[in-house]
Amino acid sequence: MRVTIIGAGVVGAAIAYELSLVSGLQTTLLDAAPQPGQGATGAALGVLMGAISRKTKGRAWRLRQRSLERFETLIPELELLTGQTLGVNRQGIVLLQGPEADLEPWRRLQALRQSQGYRLDLWDQFTLEHHCPQVVLDKGGSAIYSPQDCQISPTLLTQALITAAQRQGVDCRFGVACQPLDPSAITTSGLTLMTSQGPLETDLVIVTAGLASSALTPQALSLQPVIGQALEVRVAHPLGRDDFQPVLSYQDVHIVPLTQNRYWVGATVEFPAEEAASLPTAAQWLEQVWQTAVSFCPALETAEILRQWSGQRPRPLGESAPVIRPLPGYAGVLLATGHYRNGVLLAPATALEVRDWVLSQGNPGLEGPSGGFIQDASEVGG
Ligand SMILES: Cc1cc2nc3c(=O)[nH]c(=O)nc-3n(C[C@H](O)[C@H](O)[C@H](O)COP(=O)(O)OP(=O)(O)OC[C@H]3O[C@@H](n4cnc5c(N)ncnc54)[C@H](O)[C@@H]3O)c2cc1C
Repeated sequence: MRVTIIGAGVVGAAIAYELSLVSGLQTTLLDAAPQPGQGATGAALGVLMGAISRKTKGRAWRLRQRSLERFETLIPELELLTGQTLGVNRQGIVLLQGPEADLEPWRRLQALRQSQGYRLDLWDQFTLEHHCPQVVLDKGGSAIYSPQDCQISPTLLTQALITAAQRQGVDCRFGVACQPLDPSAITTSGLTLMTSQGPLETDLVIVTAGLASSALTPQALSLQPVIGQALEVRVAHPLGRDDFQPVLSYQDVHIVPLTQNRYWVGATVEFPAEEAASLPTAAQWLEQVWQTAVSFCPALETAEILRQWSGQRPRPLGESAPVIRPLPGYAGVLLATGHYRNGVLLAPATALEVRDWVLSQGNPGLEGPSGGFIQDASEVGG
């Protein structure tokens, strides 16, 4: 069976790799850009808010749980296949709470997560100061610590997924743009995709083109761009303790440790303007995030700003993120897009969902592990 994936961001790359493990498939991965991972993925911070997410049931939690489990095997698999280390930060996520925070819901979450096999620690002010002396919260505070959640470079992850997929026989083509799908291109022998390099015959299509997915599937999907801006900075000394460099998060602002005293700080969550005049400018948005970061980590004040960037998160309108469903009116086309703030986190689970769907498409020659195909609610993340 021929499967074509449109879009090589982290989601398309994860799908390509997962499908490369199914024997009997001929998988092609296309991207309009000359290199993969240049869309939202290239802007992401890679903070994987899994166990610490407040999603507790239904599809939203099942997808997170599926990703958490798959990441455990995926990272060593990719490191082995590519011979490269992915530099995952396994020191966990520290979610700071202001002095007025109600910790009761967190205690309930802690108990639930414990029953699910995940640890969450509730830190009082003293414990927080001990582990993260760089944090200063006005009038004190506390924190939720999630040691099993981690952070990964989205770009390195995407590249590794693609390298591994290629090694396992996936045909990856970059600089090849697909045109919008056309229902008249479906025949009994498959579907013809029109691309910038001519027509491509395929049996199944997976649309993972991020924000561009709605233009490829007119009227079937509505995605809103939600801008995120972030900064990379360098400080003279590591923030806090040398031996403990977790991701810090407060009021939706993350401080992500990198190597050599560098940190990412972000990201803004900028919804499109209903009235242009009523919104802050891009510079004001970024300044707000920076001021929040400095307010809880004053040592950042003297940081050298190395670069700043922005990206657009694909947020579905009228349905929950992410969108993983067949495209109505097209046999053999699946949407796997609209991951909004959690595309890196949810890429492995999405890939497994897609694999299950591909296996359910009824080709007796296909072999691979199967599971349930799930649909429904979501959202908070990067
Ligand atoms: C600032 C910022 C911070 C974020 N932080 C996090 C975080 O910490 N954790 C997290 O989990 N998520 C985070 N996200 C969200 C995450 O980046 C997205 O959910 C995710 O990258 C979406 O991946 P994707 O593969 O669906 O889309 P994209 O990465 O946008 O990839 C789509 C690809 O499709 C290609 N394409 C488009 N049109 C065509 C066409 N016609 N033909 C062929 N190819 C095409 C594009 O070139 C692109 O490579 C963040 C996002 C931003 C902007």
